[in-house]
Amino acid sequence: MEKLIITIAPLGNVPTKELNPNTPITAVEITDNLERCREMGAAIAHIHVRDDEGKPTSDREKFKEVLDEIEKRKLDMITQLSTGARGGANTPEWRSQMLDLNIEMASLATGSSNFPTSVNANSPELIEHLINKMNANGVKPEIEAFDLAMIDNASYLAKKGVLKSPLHFNLVMNVPGSAKGTPRNLLHMVESLPVGSTWSVTAIGKAHIPLLTMAIAMGGNIRTGLEDILEIDKGVKESNYTLMERVVNIAKAVGRPIATPDEAREILSLK
Ligand code: MG
Repeated sequence: MEKLIITIAPLGNVPTKELNPNTPITAVEITDNLERCREMGAAIAHIHVRDDEGKPTSDREKFKEVLDEIEKRKLDMITQLSTGARGGANTPEWRSQMLDLNIEMASLATGSSNFPTSVNANSPELIEHLINKMNANGVKPEIEAFDLAMIDNASYLAKKGVLKSPLHFNLVMNVPGSAKGTPRNLLHMVESLPVGSTWSVTAIGKAHIPLLTMAIAMGGNIRTGLEDILEIDKGVKESNYTLMERVVNIAKAVGRPIATPDEAREILSLK
């Protein structure tokens, strides 16, 4: 089987130090987490940032602080910035402001859905704006598919020539309000991908370990980190390192070797 690409998503939008004291918030904390997760096998850094009050933001300057810290330490990881809907204003300009930074990937939702307490609103106009800016800056989209409709819309955008093939998908499972994290749903989504696509799985909460294990066994790739799960065993706060340790052990048990950042670049056609 192809080598396994592990993405680390150290903080996302929801975790706080109150919910889990291991959540990194500042640029230095985030990069400390990324550095050690790289040593443990993570190839891609899925990065969100917070403002000075700790709230999620799409602020270009805040993303730049993290990227500068990564560069200062000469940390070799594939940088993937979030263009998600929870970073403040939901305008094409605000959502895309970080895409001219020196990065290799960015997230792209190709449809709308619900988060537990807000709308994951991605209009056709916003989606095309994000793609065009990614294309102009040589940034590869990671298509965040929360359901089948987002896969079909990505296929349509590829046929139209807006999205460039081969496509890379992240199948986001078990977000309350979106596709439930069941093996049957995951299998159906994988089978619905355009031929030649690469894919990864993100699974929230209870579905995290079962669906990541399934993805590893199927030859897909995985994402872990506090963005996706704060506790596996009740009352035990995970950290990005304990989560990395778990998934690396599963990969070893299944017999999937782990991709370095350069091998991941090859697999994802980033070069
Ligand atoms: Mg994210």
